[in-house]
Amino acid sequence: MNLHEYQGKEILASYGVAIQRGIVAQTAEEAVTAAKKLTDETGTGWHVIKAQIHAGGRGKGGGVKIAKNLEEVSTLAGQIIGMQLITPQTPPEGKPVHQVLVAEDVYYPGASDASEFYVSVLLNRATGKNMIMYSTEGGMDIETVAEETPHLIFTEEIDPATGMMPFQARKVAFNLGLSGQAFKEMTKFITSLYTAYVNSDSSLFEINPVLKTSDDKILAVDAKVSIDDNALFRHKDYLALRDIREENPIEVEAGEVGLNYVDLDGNVGCMVNGAGLAMATMDLIKQAGGDPANFLDVGGTADAARVETAFRLILKDPNVKAILVNIFGGIVRCDRVAQGIVDAYKNLGDAINVPIIVRLQGTNADIAKELIDSSGLNVLSATAFQEAADKVQQAIK
Ligand code: GDP
Ligand code: MN
Repeated sequence: MNLHEYQGKEILASYGVAIQRGIVAQTAEEAVTAAKKLTDETGTGWHVIKAQIHAGGRGKGGGVKIAKNLEEVSTLAGQIIGMQLITPQTPPEGKPVHQVLVAEDVYYPGASDASEFYVSVLLNRATGKNMIMYSTEGGMDIETVAEETPHLIFTEEIDPATGMMPFQARKVAFNLGLSGQAFKEMTKFITSLYTAYVNSDSSLFEINPVLKTSDDKILAVDAKVSIDDNALFRHKDYLALRDIREENPIEVEAGEVGLNYVDLDGNVGCMVNGAGLAMATMDLIKQAGGDPANFLDVGGTADAARVETAFRLILKDPNVKAILVNIFGGIVRCDRVAQGIVDAYKNLGDAINVPIIVRLQGTNADIAKELIDSSGLNVLSATAFQEAADKVQQAIK
């Protein structure tokens, strides 16, 4: 589960990680109230107004603006809330902004000796250890840094069994070129950040930039936090942080009916049972010159009702030009699935406006093929993988 910047920062702060303070606002008026409150608490007169969407690169897209006074807070918040923000990480049409974070300006106008670092915490699956990845090149695209100056990216691996050792936090601060008070602050920052990562069961923390202020404070200015969905059962309070407006509506609907659907960019809808078969099917589609439009696993019970729901979901994607149903009848018999497809097709009627290719293999596959072929519907049956691929290719031509 991905969080908004302001939610991620709240989690960080609850573990004692120093953050750029801010208050979330849904309207320009709320933004002004928030700015006044921050001024009362911190003394800052300048504020930064930051669009809250689940995508990075907001600064580049015009979603992060500095306000020098309350009037500018109001104008900028008014402009950003409701805008369609396009960044290198959003879909081409951008994402609507529903709220902004009004934050204290921690770059202290006029001060020139602030520096930006990059720090992330994630799991290294190859070594089975947690990893702190960090760089002196903060504030920019880490992908660009990795490509152009890979020697400026450092990693520190942490054995989850022993936790982080004090020397490791010091090593990070040292490699970032810090000394004196800033060095101490950075070791504190890294230590509490790692504790926050482990205790919140996150799968990713990406803090870009981590700021060293001109008075040697170390602060999280941005926060990308992803919580491991498998751990949400022990963080009931995090469930309220989910913002389904940020998620793909078809994926949300599929989740509600217990179907595993992942939206993709292509033009061939896939309905399969089992994740392994889903992967193989996507390869098959690619090989046939198509591109999968989704990944949909109907699971073990591919009955008529489920198949119908799956068709409805797939057809909501306007890019779908053909649907490939590839189901292995091991637990579920193929003839039952075939009957499900025929029934679903009849129920959906005109809603089905693309060719459907069905490959059923396993128990009673022959009866299933017979059922499909004699149904009189616009459904092409196939038994072999290659045959299915050829039919998909013809369908999308
Ligand atoms: P992102 O573009 O989505 O990664 O959003 P960030 O939260 O990282 O903000 C983008 C950039 O805005 C940062 O890299 C900073 O350079 C700048 N920024 C953020 N907060 C402040 C601030 O308080 N003052 C100033 N002057 N710039 C800020
Ligand atoms: Mn950032």
